[in-house]
Amino acid sequence: MASSQPVYDKIYINGEWVAASTSEMADLINPATGQVSGRVVRGNAKDVDRAVKAAREAFKTYSNTTKQERIHYLNAFAAEYEKRMEDVKRAVTVDIGAPVSFCNMMHGPAGLTTIRNSIDALNEIELEIPRGQSMIVREPIGVTGLISAWNWPSLMMCSKVSTALAAGCTIVFKPAELSTHASLLIAEMLEVVGLPMGVFNMVLGKGSVVGDAMSQHPGIDFISFTGSNGVGAKIARTSADTVKRLGLELGGKSAFMVLPGAEVEKVAPLAVMVVMLNSGQSCGAGSRTVVPKDMQEDFVAAMKAVVRNFKVGDPTRDADLGPVVSEKQWRTIQGYIQAGIDEGARLVIGGTGKPEGLEEGFYVKPTIFADVSNHMTIAQEEIFGPVASVIPYASVEEAIEIANDSPYGLSGFVFGPDHQQANEVARQMRTGYVSVNTINLDLSAPWGGYKKSGIGRENGVWGVEDMLEIKAINNYANLL
Ligand code: NAP
Ligand code: MG
Repeated sequence: MASSQPVYDKIYINGEWVAASTSEMADLINPATGQVSGRVVRGNAKDVDRAVKAAREAFKTYSNTTKQERIHYLNAFAAEYEKRMEDVKRAVTVDIGAPVSFCNMMHGPAGLTTIRNSIDALNEIELEIPRGQSMIVREPIGVTGLISAWNWPSLMMCSKVSTALAAGCTIVFKPAELSTHASLLIAEMLEVVGLPMGVFNMVLGKGSVVGDAMSQHPGIDFISFTGSNGVGAKIARTSADTVKRLGLELGGKSAFMVLPGAEVEKVAPLAVMVVMLNSGQSCGAGSRTVVPKDMQEDFVAAMKAVVRNFKVGDPTRDADLGPVVSEKQWRTIQGYIQAGIDEGARLVIGGTGKPEGLEEGFYVKPTIFADVSNHMTIAQEEIFGPVASVIPYASVEEAIEIANDSPYGLSGFVFGPDHQQANEVARQMRTGYVSVNTINLDLSAPWGGYKKSGIGRENGVWGVEDMLEIKAINNYANLL
């Protein structure tokens, strides 16, 4: 490892960078090269304990701050993020292999947007509501344990942290180890913001150790977790003993619904983007493309033309698609592509193996399957890779059935020439978010899942509300 590569051997507790309780270190791997890009310490349960202690102490005063004081800190966070946005983009590229163009468009600005949205949410939210003889007061829930995934590192960290700060909560944050570079950078920004000691704490380490200790800890009142279903369910079980409130943002298998009469040339490129951007590693990816049977051939041909022109390669250059995050993720995706072939889906483009000339990093061939039936593995399970499954349907009723025949219910898309019909279809989808004739996300709207996609909502007013307790003060004295 070159000496210029960062070594992250400290954790952030009570306003200071301090040594972790262990000296165990892990290598960080650049997915574009397979080479080590840095090293990171793996803390343990003792470190969680120290962080929780600091956060509990800080809660005594931070919970009593006014909206204006919190907005002051959030503005400072936004300003610092804006100043260092170029560094964030570079860090995300090294962490997860997201191409520069995509970092410019999404990973960089999205973090800033979520901080600003938390400010708007705090301005908007009513913290005291008179009702009958009672005053309903919403108070910060306490110490929050924020556990993040690696696939949208800046967006997730900024959203979770700014929401907690807006709610008046203090924080123990655990980033995904795979996105250490970006997370450390954002922690440095929070240091500059001048928050009171102990309001923001960050413990580095494995989920099975640090994340598990957070789930068990009696001093944490709320866990906000983004990640896989298996880990989400485990956290729910582990945190049950201490009766924590939970926000779980889990997986998805969202439908991209193409209605009869949709303009193929306009819509097919969007269908490709929503499943392939970020190398398919988005919880809200539209990974099931549901199209009218008599449009399938034209639609698939148009999707194929887009994919054929994709530049897959070095994310620091002009690639459309970089690698996937890790070798483990690469292998999982290969297994799914093979399952698609074995179960009889028609391989239109892509397939198993690495794209020619890209043997070093964890590159996947962008892949399209057609004639997919919704019961196939590739239509039921979240692949988290650049793999589209095109599912033909005979009637719009059947299309809605297909969309809803999933254990997940996170997101969805509806494209059609009749906007009203498209909206009616959107209302019948059992998901927490649906985009109609657009793929641009509104990050001020609530985000979260029906069914196995999760519990609770993030973003905007709804995200803040989830981190508040509700108190009724019954003013009986008024009646005397
Ligand atoms: P993951 O393995 O569940 O990891 C997510 C986080 O949980 C990481 O920080 C991980 O730590 C930690 N963790 C692992 N085991 C834990 C345990 N026993 N207790 C507590 N924490 C633990 O998820 P992933 O595979 O990295 O991420 C991809 C998944 O996230 C996909 O399923 C995707 O759909 C979902 N996701 C959902 C949303 C949403 O908003 N709904 C957004 C993005 C991603 P380490 O990895 O550092 O060890
Ligand atoms: Mg994982």
